[in-house]
Amino acid sequence: MTDTAIKPAPINHWLNGKLTPGTSGRTTRVFNPATGEVQGLVDLASVEEIGAAVEAASAAAKAWRTVPLSRRAEIMFRFRALLDAGRDDLARILTREHGKVHGDALGEIARGIENVDFACGIPNLLKGGYSEGASTGVDVYSIQQPLGVVAGITPFNFPAMVPLWMIANALACGNAFILKPSEKDPSASLFIADLLQRAGLPDGVFTVIHGDKVAVDALLEHPGIAAVSFVGSTPIARYIYQKGTEHGKRVQALGGAKNHMLVLPDADVNMAADAAVSAAYGSAGERCMAISVVLAVGDVADELVDAIASRLPALKVGPGSDAANEMGPLISREHRDKVAGYIGSAAEQGAKIVVDGREQQFSGNGFFLGVSLLDHVTPDMDAYRDEIFGPVLCVVRVPSYEAGLKLINDNEFGNGTAIFTRDGGAARQFQFECQVGMVGVNVPIPVPVAYYSFGGWKASLFGDTHMYGPDGVKFYTRTKVITSRWPDPAGSKVDLGFPQNR
Ligand code: NAD
Repeated sequence: MTDTAIKPAPINHWLNGKLTPGTSGRTTRVFNPATGEVQGLVDLASVEEIGAAVEAASAAAKAWRTVPLSRRAEIMFRFRALLDAGRDDLARILTREHGKVHGDALGEIARGIENVDFACGIPNLLKGGYSEGASTGVDVYSIQQPLGVVAGITPFNFPAMVPLWMIANALACGNAFILKPSEKDPSASLFIADLLQRAGLPDGVFTVIHGDKVAVDALLEHPGIAAVSFVGSTPIARYIYQKGTEHGKRVQALGGAKNHMLVLPDADVNMAADAAVSAAYGSAGERCMAISVVLAVGDVADELVDAIASRLPALKVGPGSDAANEMGPLISREHRDKVAGYIGSAAEQGAKIVVDGREQQFSGNGFFLGVSLLDHVTPDMDAYRDEIFGPVLCVVRVPSYEAGLKLINDNEFGNGTAIFTRDGGAARQFQFECQVGMVGVNVPIPVPVAYYSFGGWKASLFGDTHMYGPDGVKFYTRTKVITSRWPDPAGSKVDLGFPQNR
């Protein structure tokens, strides 16, 4: 190492309200994807460290559930104000470790803050039902109680928003929360931890524990964890769901995606092309709601491919810290090379490379790849079958609406989809028939607002509840129904019959 080389900074756990160095002796490197430099060394927790974290969280959870709703709401309001004031600083952390451009990072944070807005209404959200006089002198009512200690395991691509999908509702519902963020970009979670403390959250209620499979398995096996929320790739989501439920936990595990945009011949071609370019290449295609396949129906194909291709030379790709850039690097060198491999394999398997991102030159050692457009892609090609998770857009030409719909419904994933058309009847038919959890009508990235819930179908989600919004409150609480009668000595008697409503 030369004198000028950056010394990687230690990235520690957040336990009991303070940064706590790991004791496992294991760490992994955190890169700046725009330069290729190692800038941090993040701790990887051992089974024993997970055990200690769960113990501390359990103790904190007991007191936290007694804190009044109005006080929990007040903390959420303060947390929201601090997040709002910290947007720029948090966005810079995202750019430094994930690579996304500053404007995109701000967008991620805005969509994360929405979930805190929602959780500020927790007193209203936790209102139960009450039936006076369900039987003579008997009232029945329901209450929603927290689960205890819950855990979240999150992916690299939204290091602030996805944790906020979980944290806001879980805490507001009265649970203690243990976050295991992606080890590729772990610092955003520590920024959030600091803000929660400053907002007045008692120490120990929110924990950040860094780690890899060892930490995840320990969380899944620990009897002190009541529920696990996961967002990541499908093979790991399936694993988390199986192992977590095997250990008696409530689990929601959101997986990968292959989102198709169906463009009908009557669509506004310029609007569809703008949408396809924005949704395919934003955040370098590393979004679970990115459009990775355009299904061009009939005659629209030639014009649409030309319109998309004509927009690509103007896209500015470079370090996310430069406000002029619209797309940053990929998360790692290995991932960049894997994505580039799909461009080559698609060409070998018969696709036409309209724009080849591998040809764009970049200075330095960042993990950059230019944008690519592949035409005449067919469902048997690797580029169609796999989730590429990079700036590669595939165009599949289909003869009809029905042929396009069949591809969408035959796909193993069902996260998001969109239809572009001027025909309201066709759009309505599409929303009725498609086997996908989130649907856009002339909207390419239909991420639901925070007062709905987010979730795909098929291999994009394992579990029963979607994430955040009303489903989030449901996931993080258990319902208890109370049947009550107050003593009325005048009407008291022995009655061995089965209780009936009379
Ligand atoms: P990933 O599955 O590799 O990692 C996600 C989390 O799981 C990380 O915290 C990681 O440390 C942990 N993990 C990784 N391998 C593990 C193993 N073998 N055992 C236990 N834990 C393990 O996903 P990623 O690469 O970080 O994120 C990209 C993926 O996430 C894409 O597939 C994308 O579509 C998906 N994603 C889905 C959604 C959604 O809402 N459906 C949202 C964002 C990202």
